[in-house]
Amino acid sequence: MNNNSSAYSRLSYYTESENSITIKVPSKFVEVSLQSCLADLENLISQEASKPIKIKILVKKDDEPVAVEVEEEKVEEEPVKAEITVKKSKNDSSLNSVYTFENFVSGENIFAYNACRSIAENPGGRYNPCLLYGGVGLGKTHLLQAIGNFIVANSKLKVRYTTTENFMNEFIESINNKNTSQFKNKFRKYDVLLVDDIQFLENKESTQTEMFNTFNDLYETGRQLVFTSDRPVSEIKTLTERLRSRFERGLNIDIQPPLFETRLAILREKCKEKNQVISDSVLTYVAENVQTNVRDLEACLTKLIAYSELISKDISLSVAQELLKNSIRIDVDKSTTSISTIINVVANYFKVSVFDIKGKNKNKSISNARQIAMYLCNTQTDFSYTEIGVEFGGKDHSTVMYGVNKIKNELQKSDNEMKTIINQILVELKAALKKK
Ligand code: ADP
Ligand code: MG
Repeated sequence: MNNNSSAYSRLSYYTESENSITIKVPSKFVEVSLQSCLADLENLISQEASKPIKIKILVKKDDEPVAVEVEEEKVEEEPVKAEITVKKSKNDSSLNSVYTFENFVSGENIFAYNACRSIAENPGGRYNPCLLYGGVGLGKTHLLQAIGNFIVANSKLKVRYTTTENFMNEFIESINNKNTSQFKNKFRKYDVLLVDDIQFLENKESTQTEMFNTFNDLYETGRQLVFTSDRPVSEIKTLTERLRSRFERGLNIDIQPPLFETRLAILREKCKEKNQVISDSVLTYVAENVQTNVRDLEACLTKLIAYSELISKDISLSVAQELLKNSIRIDVDKSTTSISTIINVVANYFKVSVFDIKGKNKNKSISNARQIAMYLCNTQTDFSYTEIGVEFGGKDHSTVMYGVNKIKNELQKSDNEMKTIINQILVELKAALKKK
């Protein structure tokens, strides 16, 4: 057990019975974090023990004698708040002090990183206002808060972080309480205003007006403004022209998804933060296969660490592969993947003939295999719907599109059956491509 504050390093063995293991966690927050991978952990431990083993979680601090069984307790959201409060700065900035420049791996986002550092070192200077935009889980909130934490630590400037949603809620509350002037003063008293997720302004007319007025007041008096959005402002629908032009007149930076080397560096950084040692082969496997975003990388790492804590063993590559089989997205090299290879691999997987996959047979299992093959051709190659249709016995592009969308919809569902099938086929596809 180490002394760092990460949630995952604070699981401990408590008791066990014939068919269950009870582990102790210090807060509801840790329990909630653990719930997402409980089923996988139970499966793996049951396999090791060759019998079904249930994992029970006990929320209990080291110095607290009272035990509370999770199953008997109503799930309440309060403790999550408590955990976050601990990490909050000691001022009214609403910042979370865990996000710093030191623990941000800049990688492909070196430009964004340098700009944010420059803003932090010289607020209200050259890069004002600034907008960071990009997909989810790529580090926008991290950078935004790092700016705030740096300024709080190195100056006496008044900093405020807020989500757009919170800004709107406080605004609505002020309307209800008839104290909008108090609300106006509240956000205008800061030297640095950091506003997260402005895409939330979509369709919120009054909040947009309020944001516009706040923006102008602060900007005109030389205060620093930094915003984030999950898309470029030009793509935020119904954003008034005047507000759009305010955002666009500043520095707009596109946050990029991390490439392999950066993903590996981030995983190493997170292990260091959590005082965990995980072998390089396992980290490489995760970095190679989890290509979506940093949040997903962290989620996989959490799963691995929780499992390693539970069995008190280092994680081997094969255990990691088993544990993460539903979480990872395996991708193949698009340029070398042909439609015919995909059709062969899918036919082989479902034990149907290539002729059936290309044919018109509407039998459920055959059409399911056919649609999965179409989906894989769409996601793992650069061929168009029309080109794919030709290889599937001359089908038109709308038939292919229908099949692809059907599988995409299946993948949205919460049970992971389709995800598992797709991942298993991708493993086989990768192996088939290697043999070539
Ligand atoms: P976004 O706001 O873009 O959706 P976040 O800033 O919330 O993403 O990032 C998601 C998680 O990934 C956070 O825990 C964050 O600390 C971490 N993270 C993202 N990018 C990096 C990076 N380059 N280096 C280290 N951690 C990162
Ligand atoms: Mg965010």
